[in-house]
Amino acid sequence: MAEIRVENVRKSFGAFTAVKGSTFTINDGEFFVMLGPSGCGKTTTLRMIAGLELPTSGRILLGGEDVTFNRAAARDIAFVFQLFALYPHMNVRKNIGFPLKCQGMGGAEIDRAVEEAARLLRIDHLLDRPVSGLAGGDRQRVALGRAIVRRPKAFLMDEPLGTLDTEFRDLMVRELRELHNRIGATTVYVTHDQLEAMAMADKIAVMNHGVIEQFGRPQEIYDRPATMFVADFLGSPPMNFLSFHGGVRSGDRSVRLASAEIAVPELHEERAPGDLALGIRPEHVRLDDRAPLRGTVFGTEYLGTTQIVAIETAHGPLKARLPADLPVETGENVGLSFRSERLSVFDKGSGRALA
Ligand code: ATP
Repeated sequence: MAEIRVENVRKSFGAFTAVKGSTFTINDGEFFVMLGPSGCGKTTTLRMIAGLELPTSGRILLGGEDVTFNRAAARDIAFVFQLFALYPHMNVRKNIGFPLKCQGMGGAEIDRAVEEAARLLRIDHLLDRPVSGLAGGDRQRVALGRAIVRRPKAFLMDEPLGTLDTEFRDLMVRELRELHNRIGATTVYVTHDQLEAMAMADKIAVMNHGVIEQFGRPQEIYDRPATMFVADFLGSPPMNFLSFHGGVRSGDRSVRLASAEIAVPELHEERAPGDLALGIRPEHVRLDDRAPLRGTVFGTEYLGTTQIVAIETAHGPLKARLPADLPVETGENVGLSFRSERLSVFDKGSGRALA
């Protein structure tokens, strides 16, 4: 069992707190992604799981065992660094087998393990090649080979694709996910790239300023963001926010924007009159002549099958992803409609979702 549990973990560096009390569980075999902007505390959290950093308070459990004070080497976890230095004077076989040699394993056993790892990564034809001549993607695969050859309880990866160009990244995203499906080891993966996170994760934690803003399945986080930060961080273009002033009660199923009553999912919280925002993703905006909520088109960007249409409303600007062949003119006055279940309502003060 390689369930990883992080319990009330805080990490301060002097007066600065990088991780402000995180609690989450990664189930055995899950591909878990920590997603967030630079400096939000992802790497620090990962380093605490690895045993490279001691939490200021809280506990880390591996397979139910408290490993908070265990050394990194005693945790049976493989850490794949961004700039994984391969040994340039060794060939692929020796690079992958090196961790086993360090453990004192015998030659025949090392060969078997290396060949198995190379097969999983589809680099078995490269085993006797020097690493110096390999292309970027193959180098990453050798680095991964060196991590999986030990068959650790879990993998930790810190932006492992950070240095690759877009084409290789897309390829490696698919390969990493496939590799995970084949070996099924618990994986913790750190990235600031939402597309990478959405493509690979079973579960995502979105972090901001040392706090986990939301933890859940990719679709859950995308469809029902818990905060405006999460709504804005995921999606391209991100979720739109239409600002309005009003008060709401728990159980309400609509909100009042100046000229229009808009149906929303049932609200779970009450708010005294204040600044609120209606959240809607660009792909869920519909143009509808009869809709009371209106706006003026001020720009279009063609993307082949769709177009992004920018619309100014009395509640702020909004972007709609519409079919590319829908005729839309700059300066045109349009009605805007949304399916109620696609909407979110946020308290702008706290940034939290009320529905
Ligand atoms: P990045 O993608 O840029 O690495 P991150 O989300 O992984 O960002 P961390 O590396 O965890 O962020 O850093 C979180 C914050 O803690 C940053 O403000 C960083 O400067 C600070 N920090 C990290 N390590 C130390 C340290 N050893 N001493 C002081 N401050 C640190």
